[in-house]
Parts: sequence; C-alpha cells; structure tokens
Amino acid sequence: MFLNENMVYNQFIDGVFTSSSNRESWINYNPANNQSLGEVYRANHEDIEAAVDSSEKAFHVWKIKTGAERGRVLLKAASILRSRLEEIAILEMQDVGKPISEALAVDIISAADALEYFGGMAATIHGEFVDLKNAFGYTRPEPLGVCAGIGAWNYPIQIAAWKAAPALACGNAMIFKSSELTPATSIELAKAFMEAGAPAGLFNVVHGDGRVGGMLVDHPRIAKISLTGSVATGKKILSSAATHLKKVTLELGGKSPLIIFEDADITSAVSAALLANFYTQGEVCSNGTRVFVQRSIYNSFLQQLKERTEKIKLGDPSDPDTQMGALISKAHMEKVIQFIEAGKSSGATLLTGGFQPEKDFKGRDIKSGNFIAPTIFTDCDDTMEICRQEIFGPVLCILCFDSEEEVIERANDTPFGLAAGVFTNDIKRGHRVIHQLQAGTCWINNYNITPIELPFGGNKQSGQGRENSLAAIQYYTQLKSVYVELGNVESPY
Ligand code: NAD
Repeated sequence: MFLNENMVYNQFIDGVFTSSSNRESWINYNPANNQSLGEVYRANHEDIEAAVDSSEKAFHVWKIKTGAERGRVLLKAASILRSRLEEIAILEMQDVGKPISEALAVDIISAADALEYFGGMAATIHGEFVDLKNAFGYTRPEPLGVCAGIGAWNYPIQIAAWKAAPALACGNAMIFKSSELTPATSIELAKAFMEAGAPAGLFNVVHGDGRVGGMLVDHPRIAKISLTGSVATGKKILSSAATHLKKVTLELGGKSPLIIFEDADITSAVSAALLANFYTQGEVCSNGTRVFVQRSIYNSFLQQLKERTEKIKLGDPSDPDTQMGALISKAHMEKVIQFIEAGKSSGATLLTGGFQPEKDFKGRDIKSGNFIAPTIFTDCDDTMEICRQEIFGPVLCILCFDSEEEVIERANDTPFGLAAGVFTNDIKRGHRVIHQLQAGTCWINNYNITPIELPFGGNKQSGQGRENSLAAIQYYTQLKSVYVELGNVESPY
C-alpha cells in the first residue's frame, strides 16, 4: 500500500517546484518502520524572497476578484481533494504514522470541509452601513496581504487547509511552511489550488525547520503569521512578530480536563476518554489527558476503560483494521517514554500499557517503528509531571474527585486553556460547569469533535485567535471605516 517511496520534497513556489541544488536536505522517515520516504530540501533565503514576490503578485490578482469568484476556486479545490481522497490519505498515513482508517475518515475530509465552508462564505463577507444623518459611514473588511501559515506535524493537511481556506476566502495569499517532519500533503493542497484555477503563488509551500519559520516571521512583507505548534514556539513567534507589530494567530498545546460525573452515561464517557487520549496515538492538541472521575463510579469506570483500552488494535498503519499507529519520530517516542518513567517514579499506578510492543495486533513485527501501547495511569495527583505537562502521546491520567467545586478548581489549575469536556446527564450541571472552565473549546457529553462551523482555539497559554467558523474572518481581514459627507463642510476657520 506504500506509494511514493523515495520522494523528493522541494518547495512549491509560483506554481512550480524549485530545484533541489544548493539546498540543505534531510530524510523524511516513515514512523511505522523508520524507513526513508524521501529527501526534503530546506528553503533558503532566495526561496523565501521568491515565495514572497510570487505571493504578492498573486495577492494583487486575487484581491480584486469578487467573493463569488474566489469561492468557486475554493469549492473546486475541495472537490479535487475529495476525488483524490485515497491517494492523499496514504501520503498522510505514511508521513504521520496514523492509521489509514483515520486519514480516510478525518484528515482529508476535514480539509475539504474547510474549503467548502469558506468557499461558500466568500461571497457573503461584507461590511456595515452606518447612518449618520447628513452623512453615512461604511466599513470594508479588507484582506491583510501575504499571510504565513506554519504547521505542526499531527494533522498536516487539515492544519494547512484550516489556515488557507479563510485566508484565501478573505482575499489574502498564503505561504505555508509545513512541519519538517511532515512535508508531503501541503504540496497536494497547493496542487489542488492550482488545478482549481488559483493564480500561481496564491498558496506557496516551503519546507524547513524553525529557521525557515523564523524567516517568514521576520519578513517585512508578510502581514500575518498563523502558527499551529507548541507553547514555546508560540512565545518565540509572538515576540519576534512584535518587532513588526504583525498580526498573529496561535493554536498551541494543552493539558485539557475531561470531567466524568457520577450520573454520566458510563459507556459513552469511556468511549470519549479513549477517543480523547488514543486517537492519532494521542498526538492531538485538544486531548483530554486529565480524566477526572467522580469517586462513586471510579472503579466501574476504570474497569471498562482498561478492558476497552487493551482491545485497541495497534500496528501497521496501512492495514484498514488498525486503530492506533506509530508516534511521529524516535525522538518523540523517547520523550513519551521518559514521561511514562516519570509517572512510575512519581508514585502513579500503571494500570495498562507503558511499553513498546514488538508485535502488532496481527502478530507482525513492529520493532522498527515508533509504537507505544496505550497507557493509563491511576492514583495520579495534580502535582505530578504527567498531569501538568503536555505529553502528546498515548498517556491517559486518571484523577479522582468528590465535588463539583473541587473539580472545577483542579481542572483550571493549569497554564493551558485549550479544551475541556464534561460528562453528565444533568443539563444544568453540564452548562454550569462548562461556563466555569477556563478553556476555549468545550464539549458536553462528547469530546474532540471539531466541526468547521464552530470556532476552535485556546485561552490562557494555549493560544490566541480562532480558526474555523465565521470567527476566523476577523483574523484574516482588517476593517477600513469610510465616512461619506452628504452636506457642506462646516469649519470654524
Ligand atoms: P513545534 O512548536 O515544535 O513546531 C510547530 C511548527 O513551528 C513547525 O513547523 C516548526 O518548524 C515551526 N517552528 C519551530 N520553531 C520556530 C520558530 N522559532 N519560528 C517559526 N517557526 C518555528 O510543534 P510540533 O512539535 O510540530 O507540534 C506539536 C505541538 O503543536 C503540540 O504542542 C500540540 O499541542 C500543538 N498543536 C496545537 C494545535 C491547535 O490547534 N491548538 C493543533 C495541533 C498541534
């Protein structure tokens, strides 16, 4: 099922691939077996200049198109992605290590959803009319210019599309830097835009690590940066962007609480806890990794959770039956193992998992991949490192609580504020608790559902700005106010 082995990943600028000569390179590894998928070439200063020149040129063509014209290109790009679903899903599966079933059901579909949502909305973006007696005013939401998107590695094409769709719908151009670990599918998005009739340069793709991201952040002709990444990178970008007073959207990490009250539907709550920790091998920013369970249901909840966790089919991501794949890199796997060791030595009880499996669920050898069994710690307390730091791997921490007031205070005791979930059948309690949780994206009786129609983003150190929904428009436009006089100019002079 593996396609495109030994690919060459070059920059995609002005509708064409650059050459690979005179550029540093590195190997892109398949997380499932650590074999090479190909060589990635890092953008140099000339590439960044060429990308900015080309995006500026495209911006001047694109910004004068009507919203309906822009929308048609986005809608066509969406249908191209849908028609190439399987091919792009395989690229994503190989690049990220996630199961093919996930890539087929979520990643590419979610990218297409974003293009359709903002494609449909493009013609409706409008300002306001203000009656001022002998005058009137109106506002124009105008595009910002060339925007830069910088992506994380866990949902590469989804992240690229969640940034590109609103940016382009509003009349901007975008230069996208994929994560150095997942260069494949942002290029597929760029090709879809070209095929859909976008001007060359409207969506350019460059490759590289933080140094290339830094070149974009520091570039004087780039108007806005949208990052999906860690809190540490968010802080660096915000401080560099401040020197240019650049607009910045930050979608960062979290350590989100999932609170299960005793009156909840336990089977659904267990399903949500599993999805909130083990989907995409636990590499999801909004994961509910601190699972607070009310004391009276603690034992029955744990029993179901353990049984169902141990049935998760971990293994070869290309097998359609696989439910959990490989972590993005050896280095990241080592980091997750260190957290597991820290959990054990801090006194938490390892309920299940915590090891590197050598065989997958069909008995295939997976020693060469970055696999960690789904892991659950019980007897956790709020001060343990595993309960405070974002692990970004398949590690679930169970915390026991007694009262509503207590759990709200404990859930909020974190510098992060990305997401939160509450399970209860008491409708009043559900809303009352959610309203007090310090998080930007919340769920009652579900977890990690992110429809394009709802804003997504974090509070506190988990970020600023929002992606998706109508809310995204304000982050890719700037308002111009126009006053129009209908009478004479009155002057004291
Ligand atoms: P990361 O911060 O290491 O890297 C993210 C991106 O920033 C990469 O493309 C990287 O090359 C670039 N980068 C790194 N340093 C930079 C710098 N100084 N200037 C400019 N760019 C720089 O994060 P990661 O390891 O790729 O992704 C995991 C993190 O992303 C986790 O913390 C996760 O929670 C977060 N994440 C957040 C969301 C969200 O929507 N809130 C979604 C996915 C992932």
